[in-house]
Amino acid sequence: MPIIDEKIDQVKRIFTTYLGNKGLRKTSERFFILEEVYARDGHFDVETLYITMKDKDHSVSRATVYNTLDLLIDCDLVSRHQFGQNLAEYEKAYGYKQHDHLLCTECHKVVEFCDPRVHNIQKNVGDLLGYEVMHHSLILYANCKKENCENRNK
Ligand SMILES: [Zn+2]
Ligand SMILES: [Zn+2]
Repeated sequence: MPIIDEKIDQVKRIFTTYLGNKGLRKTSERFFILEEVYARDGHFDVETLYITMKDKDHSVSRATVYNTLDLLIDCDLVSRHQFGQNLAEYEKAYGYKQHDHLLCTECHKVVEFCDPRVHNIQKNVGDLLGYEVMHHSLILYANCKKENCENRNK
């Protein structure tokens, strides 16, 4: 089985179990949204996801998109980021490399980076203080080099 199919099967199983445990309905809309999220790369906002769903003739309401994303966050299949502007952005979280984000405050470009030391800090601080740390949020606010930045080189 191709890796991508295997992964979508795994996330569907996790979501099914989660909905069952919470006594929530396993509606086809919720699973369409899950599939669409895992078909995407990178970050997206609710509106983009909603429009894609509509274009694919999956009639879901915005409320369902919001509500389902909240559920997917709750069971760790999706993460939400606030990159400084008003719109929250989302991305798939399961089986996807651990990473943090760097944001240019001028052009708002977001770059992902991976540094295992961040995970070590999370683990060490948890051990030291006797907590089980579930996740973290780290955004580095930066400026692109002038010649690379869409806003700074104007
Ligand atoms: Zn990311
Ligand atoms: Zn920039």
